[in-house]
Amino acid sequence: MSLNDVRELDRRDPLRLKRADFALPPGTIYLDGNSLGALPANVATRLVEVAQTQWGGDLITSWNKHNWIDMPVQIGEKIAPLIGAAPGQVVVCDTISVNLFKLLTFALALQPGRTTILSQADNFPTDLYIAQGLEQTLTSSRCKLVSVAESDLTDGLTDEVAVLLLTHVNFRSGAFHDMQKLTDLAHRKGVLVLWDLAHSAGAMPIHLDACHVDFAVGCGYKYLNGGPGAPAFVYVATRHQNAAVQPLTGWMGHADPFAFDSAYLPAPGILKFLCGTPSVLAMCALDEALNVFNAVDLQQVRKKSEALGDLCRTLFATRVDLAEFQLVSPIEAHNRASQIAYTHPHAYQICQALITENTITDFRAPDILRIGFTPLYTRYEDVWMFVEQITRIVSTRVYLDPKYSIRAKVT
Ligand SMILES: *Cc1c(COP(=O)(O)O)cnc(C)c1O
Repeated sequence: MSLNDVRELDRRDPLRLKRADFALPPGTIYLDGNSLGALPANVATRLVEVAQTQWGGDLITSWNKHNWIDMPVQIGEKIAPLIGAAPGQVVVCDTISVNLFKLLTFALALQPGRTTILSQADNFPTDLYIAQGLEQTLTSSRCKLVSVAESDLTDGLTDEVAVLLLTHVNFRSGAFHDMQKLTDLAHRKGVLVLWDLAHSAGAMPIHLDACHVDFAVGCGYKYLNGGPGAPAFVYVATRHQNAAVQPLTGWMGHADPFAFDSAYLPAPGILKFLCGTPSVLAMCALDEALNVFNAVDLQQVRKKSEALGDLCRTLFATRVDLAEFQLVSPIEAHNRASQIAYTHPHAYQICQALITENTITDFRAPDILRIGFTPLYTRYEDVWMFVEQITRIVSTRVYLDPKYSIRAKVT
């Protein structure tokens, strides 16, 4: 495989024109869209417009005039087709962490007599932390978190389990679960399933309705490119929506928020999963960012993501200087989501050295270098250039410079 071959792949890429929808800094190779999606070009204009004309010009009348009040639902409906959800089941609000608290409590309420939340020990920490917090709040007689190794999940589905809490794509390795299989298995044991789609929504086709999923949450700022701290989304299957209330009974989830009644009455349907006032500027950024997905075929996105991962893995394997990197992702592209991860004893320093050369990947403690591919803007040539750079950095050992060992607050 030569640089010319790689450029030919870019020329033949059916998604190649999508890159122009993003405002990427020239000369930067960005391989971290799995942590923070790049800025879609129209978002900055939209934010200025909303601030000046709507907030600045129309002031509070914008809640009606510009439909600010309906944004959580409208943006939810824009996300729905990306995750295989029919209308009326997705809203955008809060963070994944907060939404997990709502949904786990809700799921426990639907399962009288069952008190266990079953999860995976290497799940993303905030998912486990929220379950631990809920266990403390409700006490272990009403909620108990059991986290097991992936291989023990099936055995863990006992008749004490109320809800299975899983992240679709492992944030370290990029391995992903068979959603259909695990959801079916859990249901056969009377267990509800909550999927965290943080590293899959926008990166691959997802079929929540077809898999008969009960609940899901997902991230606005990763593959959906909604900007730092973008609001998250919640999916609740229609069949469950009116069966209980969620615990964060704020006014935006009330049946009639502007009646200012002193008693809480949940809104019907998905609206009851809202809590407080939507963060309008952040909502507008996410709303605009989602337009990038217009007419995008997620099968094509998936195909390119597999090809980018395979290219990276193949190039790594041919460089003797990179022999110290150990693949922690599945070898087979069809078992891997849109990232590839390697361990290296100096992963942190190498990641920092790459950043000074304008190539951005990320590091996950204790020793993982994670390389994310966003098929809408990552080029095959970017992967090639990245492998060239990392090979140079490793062979010259420039990463041993002490300046690359200074740990920043955010890694
Ligand atoms: C990024 C990510 C989150 C983020 O949670 P927030 O509360 O929105 O900050 C949660 N879970 C997983 C699996 C993630 O990858």
